[in-house]
Amino acid sequence: MAKETAAQRIERIKVEKDGLSVLADIYEYAKGNKEIEPEDIDRFKWYGLYTQNKNLQDEDDTTLYFMLRVKLEQGVINVEQLRCLSKISSDFGRSTADFTTRQDIQFHFIKVADLPEIFERLKSVGLSSVFAAGDVPRNIVTCPVSGIDQDEIYDTTFLVHEINNYLRGNPDFVNLPRKYKIGISGCGKHCMGHEIQDLSFTAVHTDDGVLFAVNVGGGLGSNKKIALHLGYVREKNVLDVVKTVTAVYRDHGLRKSRKKARLGHLIDEWGLEKFKAYTEEKLGFKFIDKPLFKATPYAQREHFGIHRSLIEGESYVGCAVNGGHIGADGLSDLADILEKHRATTIKATNTQNFIILDVPEQNTDKLAKDLLDINIEVNPSPFKARTLSCTGIKFCKFALVETKDEAIKLASYLEKRFPDFSENVSISLNGCPNSCAHPHIVDIGLSGIKFKDEEGNTVAGFEIILGGNLEGENSNFGLKTGIKILPKDIHRTFENIIEQYLGSERKGLTRFLK
Ligand code: SF4
Repeated sequence: MAKETAAQRIERIKVEKDGLSVLADIYEYAKGNKEIEPEDIDRFKWYGLYTQNKNLQDEDDTTLYFMLRVKLEQGVINVEQLRCLSKISSDFGRSTADFTTRQDIQFHFIKVADLPEIFERLKSVGLSSVFAAGDVPRNIVTCPVSGIDQDEIYDTTFLVHEINNYLRGNPDFVNLPRKYKIGISGCGKHCMGHEIQDLSFTAVHTDDGVLFAVNVGGGLGSNKKIALHLGYVREKNVLDVVKTVTAVYRDHGLRKSRKKARLGHLIDEWGLEKFKAYTEEKLGFKFIDKPLFKATPYAQREHFGIHRSLIEGESYVGCAVNGGHIGADGLSDLADILEKHRATTIKATNTQNFIILDVPEQNTDKLAKDLLDINIEVNPSPFKARTLSCTGIKFCKFALVETKDEAIKLASYLEKRFPDFSENVSISLNGCPNSCAHPHIVDIGLSGIKFKDEEGNTVAGFEIILGGNLEGENSNFGLKTGIKILPKDIHRTFENIIEQYLGSERKGLTRFLK
């Protein structure tokens, strides 16, 4: 009999017992009542759990450790939740904690025995890891300053809440062909990144009032495509479109290969016209036809600094966390600073940073100073602001090289080396050819690979990817340069690229290729 393919295996596993149903088993495994079945480990993803590599484990430590991703709806964390997450990190995760590119937070070194207690603590503060991973609707990405930004097009807070209520742990969508990413935003800078979502809704001013542009089939990784425009809908129809497109994807999405199973692959196979016509037939109405909106370039999509909020007497404060790493101490220090300055809530961003939403205006400068003491910057250098990093070799089983510490060191090096550099620049370090930290949409991306060095030895390093940009129809993915470097050469390489850029005319589509 032919060996099962990876896709056949996961499809069988999902049918035999769905991911949500593994919770009862997790509780049994936690008590030590039975051996963990390998196929249940795949289902653990539905609760945000991935196995991690053993690189930081002692030789005689046979424990199976997991990464746990907690889904932060709309990226929100209040002070009580910050304290809870900090305590989970210090009690069970060896003080690890990192913000992700989907407005989530994740921990490492999590043991199955501790999961019931962790789940209980999360629940007690209104948080959960359900559907943080697996073949399900992942966290909806949205603008972190929704409802408080002076320049926003539309406040989508309630809309996103409504869609989250519908999708949260919804058993109808427990078995999608692959992960499925939705974005909804009314941001004037288009920071949600509609181009790389499976399904997105972007608020746009039109001659018919505010409408939502619907884009489908975008992605990075196995489905590296800029999303296609379907048309516009009114706010009251957004939930209908979510229900319908998600059901179409569930029922017709391709399931034969894990590399060709995203919504964009179905649209490739059907063609956009057929996909649109089929969706409209199921919806019972047509998308509104209007000209495409002009998207903000990726470099300008940020909310750093102190800004007057739409709420009288309050400011919001955009903060940079180097490489997304915050840790247990960072979370509890942040909670202390918020309380000290009478702020209550942060929202994680999709660039591994966060916004403090509600600082009394008179407290902003003192708050910014206190944040600096814990290495969080309100007016970061361009390097610290937009340097993304994936998990890397410390924990990720696919990683070939270290990324998180390298990203932190790189940003510090570049801000010392180029103290006057003031243009927005985006950087991304990835431990393997996958795209967890978005190397193809940034100015300068590094993608982990193995290659032969001058002596013919196989070594692990990075390939340089240059010139990525998101800008609606004018988006382009970065070009793989074929230039491979060793980790020890990262600083010198970036120095060269930036020096060359500074000496160039700084024009063109791929500005860092010049
Ligand atoms: Fe792991 Fe690769 Fe993703 Fe980095 S990019 S977290 S190494 S899978």
